[in-house]
Amino acid sequence: MGAEKTKAFGTIAADAPLNEMNIQRREVTSKDIEIEILYCGVCHSDLHTARNDWGGTIYPVVPGHEIVGRVTKIGNEVTKLKVGDLAGVGCLVDSCRECNSCEHDLEQYCLNGFTGTYNGADKHLGIQTYGGYSEKVVVDEHFVLKVPANLDLSAVAPLLCAGITTWSPLRHWNVGKDSKVAVVGLGGLGHMAIKLAKGLGAEVTLFSRTPGKTKDAKELGADEVVISTDAEQMKSVQGKFDLIIDTVPYVHDINPYVSTLNISGTLVLVGYLGELDPMLNTVPMIMGRKTVAGSVIGGIAETQEMLDFCGKHNIVSEVEIINIQDINIAYERMLKSDVRYRFVIDMASLKK
Ligand code: NAP
Ligand code: ZN
Repeated sequence: MGAEKTKAFGTIAADAPLNEMNIQRREVTSKDIEIEILYCGVCHSDLHTARNDWGGTIYPVVPGHEIVGRVTKIGNEVTKLKVGDLAGVGCLVDSCRECNSCEHDLEQYCLNGFTGTYNGADKHLGIQTYGGYSEKVVVDEHFVLKVPANLDLSAVAPLLCAGITTWSPLRHWNVGKDSKVAVVGLGGLGHMAIKLAKGLGAEVTLFSRTPGKTKDAKELGADEVVISTDAEQMKSVQGKFDLIIDTVPYVHDINPYVSTLNISGTLVLVGYLGELDPMLNTVPMIMGRKTVAGSVIGGIAETQEMLDFCGKHNIVSEVEIINIQDINIAYERMLKSDVRYRFVIDMASLKK
């Protein structure tokens, strides 16, 4: 297998800044597509992984799983795309493709474990996978997405994670024009959740800690904004929502949100990974047949469905373009919820 050197940006330790480095990409095999990366979104998961918030980070790590670019090479059995086409890669680059989940287009729930775009186990090279903060990537065609040509490419990148992670629960819980949806947290995932829920015809409310985001939220499509620290405002939406998508990255009290669910409503956690503190009070759940659920990204077919929907409805992310050399500053700003609403790296800056 080839051992080509590829320029990338990553980190060697949880407490070290990201810096330029060289990584290895495999030679294109018969089913592979090589993509020159043009833009890569900056997800809060990149920061969690770089700083080992979840444990299990293998260093060096090159984050980035909101990748868009142009096809530069294809294997001789590739049929999905050709050289010169636009292409996208999200959070998955492989899975077993044989288990019950994979057979049902749920590669994200692969029973043998999916291969993440970064910090995954690369089956070809026997090392960790490296993400999109790099010049190029080589991915099996099954995990490569077609990108609608009518959309601004830099603003498409965040759809590959923030978009699909919020689209998947919206679709799974059958959100449509009669639905009342709430979103907790207005960041990368939150702003896409508002746009996509609105695109599906739902009435949408944002829960935010940050009063300064109210105007933006309404411009993004929210019908209402509830400041979650204001008890009166929280009271005004008791028993209202069919679905709540909670995107908050850190431990927080979800009990006040459960109270805002309608009978049989569901609160789906997509942000925080770990034990709840304070614990979940089961009384409102039992007395109202309410569900607290979780969801991780989305399958490849569902990601394509979301991209096609966005192409048709002109939905993209609100982005702030940065150079790769500013990634450490971007991480600090993300920790302060100071992103409006997704940083996207112009990968041409890596050539500087
Ligand atoms: P982000 O852009 O940083 O947005 C998170 C938002 O949550 C913030 O803008 C803020 O909104 C709110 N928030 C932040 N800290 C908070 C706290 N301590 N308490 C309450 N609210 C807080 O992050 P993101 O990229 O959207 O990612 C959100 C989370 O989803 C991350 O943990 C990420 O790892 C995870 N994620 C999960 C999946 C999945 O498949 N399940 C996929 C991608 C990402 P306000 O200012 O409006 O309060
Ligand atoms: Zn992500």
